[in-house]
This record gives sequence, structure tokens and C-alpha cells, in this order.
Amino acid sequence: MESISVFDMLKIGVGPSSSHTLGPWRAALRWVGELKEKNQFDEVSAISIDLYGSLSLTGKGHATDIAVMLGLSGFDPVTFPIENIEREIDFINSENKLKLNGELEVPFFPKQNIIFNRKFLEFHPNGMTFRATLKDGSKKSSSFYSIGGGFTVKKERKRKKIKMAKFAQFPFPVEKGFELLAYCKAEGMSISELVLENEKSLRSEVEINNGLKKIWDVMLDSMYVGAHTEGILPGGLNVTRRAFEMNKNLIGDNKYTNAEDWIAAIRNTEVKFRQILKWVSCFALAVNEVNASLGRVVTAPTNGSAGVIPAVMMYYLVIENHDANFEDVRKFLLTAGEIGSIFKKGSTISAAMGGCQAEIGVSSSMAAGALCELMGGTPEQCLMASEIAMEHHLGLTCDPIAGLVQIPCIERNAMGAIKAINACEMALDSDPSKAKVPLDKVIATMWETAKDMTSKYKETSEGGLAVQVNISDC
Ligand code: SF4
Repeated sequence: MESISVFDMLKIGVGPSSSHTLGPWRAALRWVGELKEKNQFDEVSAISIDLYGSLSLTGKGHATDIAVMLGLSGFDPVTFPIENIEREIDFINSENKLKLNGELEVPFFPKQNIIFNRKFLEFHPNGMTFRATLKDGSKKSSSFYSIGGGFTVKKERKRKKIKMAKFAQFPFPVEKGFELLAYCKAEGMSISELVLENEKSLRSEVEINNGLKKIWDVMLDSMYVGAHTEGILPGGLNVTRRAFEMNKNLIGDNKYTNAEDWIAAIRNTEVKFRQILKWVSCFALAVNEVNASLGRVVTAPTNGSAGVIPAVMMYYLVIENHDANFEDVRKFLLTAGEIGSIFKKGSTISAAMGGCQAEIGVSSSMAAGALCELMGGTPEQCLMASEIAMEHHLGLTCDPIAGLVQIPCIERNAMGAIKAINACEMALDSDPSKAKVPLDKVIATMWETAKDMTSKYKETSEGGLAVQVNISDC
């Protein structure tokens, strides 16, 4: 059983995709680390990368090639200034050389040295192999798999072994929803309180608070940037950014100069049902417009679904509770992270394995349960809310047009957020002891559905909207 921290489920990264951008970026960094560990780094004279399966089929639209080059260059996806991406990539393309880890210049011809292979590696649909030729002519290679949410593994799953060691430290090890509920009942704790105890076995409370604050800051910033940036998204689909206009219409004459003031200004606006729908959609669209333009977002649990959790948290802050503060944000993120980890252990958060139910479905489920706790729901009601949200995403396919994380992805975040709020409300009005479908059953169903789904609908852009709609129609 894996031990997964909230900081594994919610990670600061760069768009547009956790499995196709963040994962390969991190894999490239890990490979450079491997070369150093083995004292091979200084001997490297040439490098190339093979991308396989889904990484190859939708890799261009998901900026996998760019991510790999930035990772090889030694840049950190959490801190690298996104406004420098274009300059760094232009340099590699025009000079045909790459500075490995920022230290060692090697010849690099992106068109020839990044190879898009249609074939799938057996272990996982998102495979990649990094190859180096050393100065003595010997060849070295290492394969990685991007398994969703920015997680990368080697076939022998060394990381899992490390995580298992950490797992032993968790005072409340949870694999299934029913175990989580049993601990909450026995300890008289809410889900977030219990998760906090687990997190405290890995890091201090100050570190936890600082980490969660950083995550929320990036979430808020991505909503703010998205809602204040107009224009057309890159990639060739000519998709107009919509959050800008929505925010402008909804905010009216209320003035603000930064993200914190923006929250106060939104609280001042008059909201009826239609405005609530529009605000939640605006928040979700904003994040995913930022994501689609290679901006900084929080992978939650993936980049394609990065807008759902911030939009639902923001809904709570600006609509439900005007006195809400960081303590509420902390509870929300801890609970959401735990629910996401149960999905990861029992099913998948990779669209290449399970289609969009694994991205938007899981994020909606995480948000529904977390919102339910803030709204006063019991742990049982929280998991009921999560179950309802996933139940109505079962079977959702992944079919991004032109392999870009734009259509249907951006709107889908708005839908996932609204469904999460609705699922929460239904659970709050229900007796969970009468629920017919427990969360664990819906997770098992999602996994079986994932296995039955053809690869056309698993981040390959070979089915659905991706083949019905031509890029020239856009
Ligand atoms: S369709 Fe869903 S799973 Fe596929 S890329 Fe878009 S958001 Fe991700």
C-alpha cells in the first residue's frame, strides 16, 4: 500500500498537463540526477529522448517536448519563471545545443533528438526513455513512466518502496474510504484533523501550514491571473479566453488592486443563482486558461483538472462564508488531498489509464468531500459527497481536440466544480447510512470502467471530439 501525502496530491507546477508536462519535466530532472549519481554526467557527449504511447500521441499539444528540454536544462517546475520558457526553448531550437543541468553543453536537435514513437511501452501508456552517449562511445539509457498527477516512476517502482517506508510512519494508514471513516469515528476527529496527524508524522506543523499556504497562494494567483488576462490561447485552436469578460461583467464597479482585494470585491457583488454559477465557472475557466498557456497552476490532482478545487474553495470564500480564513483553506486542502489519495490507491488519476473520469471526476470528488467538511458535514457525509460527485462522472472520456488541454478540458473544470457543489449539498441533506453506493464501490467501478475503456479515449486524441472536430474548423 502506498503512503501518499497531501503534498503529493497537490503540487505546484506548470501547465498544460501533469502527466504530459510536469511528469516528463520531473523525469528529465531525475535522469540528470541519475547520471550524476553514477558519475556519468561529465562524460555525456550526446542525448536523445524517446516518448512513447500517449506521451507521443498528444505530447506536442501537451508541451511534452518543451517540458523535457526544460527538465534536462535543470530548471525546477515549481520556481522557474514561466515568462522565460519561450526564451529558453528558442535558444535550444536556434543554437541546436542544450545546457544539461545548466552546466554541460551538448549538441541537441529537438526535431531529431526528441522522438515521438506511436508504440506503447507495456508498463504504462506514458513511457519515456532518456538516452546518453558517453565520450568513450558507450550508451546509457533509463526509462520513466508518468503515471498521472505529476508522479513519475521507474518500472521497478523504487519510489514506491521509499513511500512504503514512509507509510509505516503514518499513525492512521488509509487505503480505503471505510478505513478513513473508522479512524474518524474511533478518534472523534474530522477528516482534515486525521490527515493533519498523518502529515505531522512527515513534517512539522509549521512546514505543513507554509506548504499549504503556498499551494493556496498559487491557486488564488492562477484564478486572479486568468480572470484578468484577455486574448486567444496558444496552440492554433483560436480559443478565446473567457474568464476575463466574465469577471468584468460580474464584478461591475467594485474596485481592487490585488487578489486579496478581489476576494473582498466579489463579496460585495450581488449574487443570485445565476451569478453564483457564473462566478464558479469564471474561477475554474481562469485557472485552466492559465494552464493552457503554460502558466503556473497547482496540479489538483492533475493539470487538466486544476481549476475544480480552487473554484470550489473560492466559492466557499466568496459566497458561503465571508469570514472564512486560512484555517478553512487548510481543512479544505487536507480533506481534498486525502480523498484524492484514496482514488489514486484504488483506481487511477491518469487520463492515459482511465480517461477524463480520472481527472475531472476525481477533482470533483475531492472538492465535494472537502467542501462538505467546511459546510459542517460529518466524515460520512463528506465521503457521500465525494461518491456522488464521482458517480456522475463515471465513463467520462478524454478526447482533447488537437491534443491541446483546451477543448473540452477548460469548460469541463467549470462543470466539475458545479457538480461538486451540488454533490455536497445533496450529501448534507442525506443520511449516509442509507446510501446505496459507498465511495469505495464507486472507486472500484471507476477502475473497472477505466479498464474497459478503449485507448481511443485515454489521452490519445484518437476518438471522440478529437476526431469529430478538425483543427481547421476552429
Ligand atoms: S479531456 Fe479531461 S482528461 Fe483529457 S486532457 Fe482534457 S481535462 Fe485532461
